[in-house]
Amino acid sequence: MKTFLLTALFLTASLSSLLGDESKRDCEKFYVDSRDVAIENDQIYVRLDQVWVPALSISTDATGIYASVDPWHIRWICPRCTYNNSGEDSNCYKCGLARPKR
Ligand SMILES: [Zn+2]
Repeated sequence: MKTFLLTALFLTASLSSLLGDESKRDCEKFYVDSRDVAIENDQIYVRLDQVWVPALSISTDATGIYASVDPWHIRWICPRCTYNNSGEDSNCYKCGLARPKR
């Protein structure tokens, strides 16, 4: 856990300096199976709930392999119509509601 916190802090600091305010969201940590990790075109992807999403980093600890993922890439449920939207959609695919900020 301590390692993850340090990693998250490091990523937050390094991304903030590159991208500014947009990147100040916290990363979420997901344990994944090695079959659910792919590297393509210099980008790491992990499969969460059958959907491949970009990961910021992959690491391991005593529990297993984990990925740090920007929550923005994770599927979200529309609070108005309950449609299950892709993490890439900033507005609900069904009703157009803007994705809620965390
Ligand atoms: Zn909706």
